[in-house]
Amino acid sequence: QYGIMAPITHSIDHDTAVILGEELGIAVKWPEPEKSETEEAESQPEQQPQTPHNFVQRIISQEKESDLVERPPVVAVLGHVDHGKTTLLDRIRNTNVAEGEAGGITQRTGAYQVTVNGRKITFLDTPGHEAFTAMRARGAQVTDIVVLVVAADDGVMPQTREAISHARAAGVTIIVALNKIDKANANPQRVMEELAQEGLQPEEWGGDTIVVPVSALNNIGIDELLENILVVAEVEEYKANPKGRCVGTVIEAELDKHRGVTATLLVQNGTLKRGDTIVVDTTWGRIKAMFDFEGKPIKEAGPSTPVVILGLQELPKAGDIFERVKNDREAKRIVQERLLEREQAAQAPKRQMSLDELFARFEGGETKTLNLIVRADMQGTLEPIVKSLEDLSNDEITVKILQAAIGDISESDVMLAEASDAVIIGFSVGVDRAAQVRAEQSGVEIRHYDVIYKMIEDVEAAITGMLEPVY
Ligand code: GDP
Repeated sequence: QYGIMAPITHSIDHDTAVILGEELGIAVKWPEPEKSETEEAESQPEQQPQTPHNFVQRIISQEKESDLVERPPVVAVLGHVDHGKTTLLDRIRNTNVAEGEAGGITQRTGAYQVTVNGRKITFLDTPGHEAFTAMRARGAQVTDIVVLVVAADDGVMPQTREAISHARAAGVTIIVALNKIDKANANPQRVMEELAQEGLQPEEWGGDTIVVPVSALNNIGIDELLENILVVAEVEEYKANPKGRCVGTVIEAELDKHRGVTATLLVQNGTLKRGDTIVVDTTWGRIKAMFDFEGKPIKEAGPSTPVVILGLQELPKAGDIFERVKNDREAKRIVQERLLEREQAAQAPKRQMSLDELFARFEGGETKTLNLIVRADMQGTLEPIVKSLEDLSNDEITVKILQAAIGDISESDVMLAEASDAVIIGFSVGVDRAAQVRAEQSGVEIRHYDVIYKMIEDVEAAITGMLEPVY
């Protein structure tokens, strides 16, 4: 079955470079005789998506093994529209925002935590793969487990497939919540068959995908779902050092008329304390006040804890990485440096990533991978395209199809490409406007074809190019 892939790997050196503010415009170079050099240079990314999630992972990997302790898993909820993501998140949170019950509404802060059998689970409270991948496109890597909501009366739908590709591209574990089992026309057997076709073979059929039948509406199976999340967490052993370097990710942020910038942060390593000074991209601030997701003031927060903080000078973006620094002076110095670097980068002639550099990135025993996202007009063409592209893999280069779907190229395809350094291939399909705009901004390459052999020829040439760089 196509669309199956391993977690993406990035090299540490690249991450180091990223955090130093160095810009690596990595792109696979395609043979393109009809384009002039200037045009080609312009089509290169101005700024490649950052990958500071590796920065966080690197920080954790540098901690002493004996200092690492288990941390709560961080869970995102994905799935097709109307399959019950919001209802499930609300149910788990034990409120009913969807029903708008007066008094019961806690302000949504983008993440919350629940305690099950004395153990915590952190949920990202913005459902859907768009939000999930937008964060990844900014370089954040916060999710450990994806709960894929599939309605038992509707089955695997286009956005279910998209969600699966996005979760796979992120290399996270998928647990299926087979929702709406209360409905008379629910057909769990059929849905499990469909899931198996997508490569998610249910455990009870001998596969390794946990499928939990639930009704978010009627509160059936929710405890089992949560327990299964903890089972996965136990196996995977997510760890961090609460005493280590304090880093994490911005989950969301807004400007409040009275309070200034409020930001929800997910602490990923170390312990964040009120009064700490943090740097977030090119802004900084001293934490004036800190609250848990329920709005209760707190003094400190360890790994996997979402917190709402006040005190940042400017509005950060979701997916930005924060880091605690020694004091305000150091914060200002780092921000100054980054602003300066950014200014210089904007002025410097745009550097095109050479194949040489691409190779440098692949060094270190990692597999060389060409990530592709494929869109075609019909299922009948999609399958042979995917098959022939995958067949181009050789001993050294793997062609990995992150996603293969029918229909026009969408914005979420572009985000997936951004987050995974992929090239998009469209076969007799259009590009929707938002996707076009985003691709232009982010430098994601979209290649259009109407003839299969031409497409194969180009990809083959690109692969050969990767094998034998021409200077
Ligand atoms: P989302 O778009 O995936 O976030 O879906 P929502 O949570 O908004 O749910 C879509 C609709 O399905 C709403 O009318 C919900 O009340 C309904 N719904 C969600 N979960 C269940 C369930 O377990 N059983 C039934 N019968 N309806 C559900």
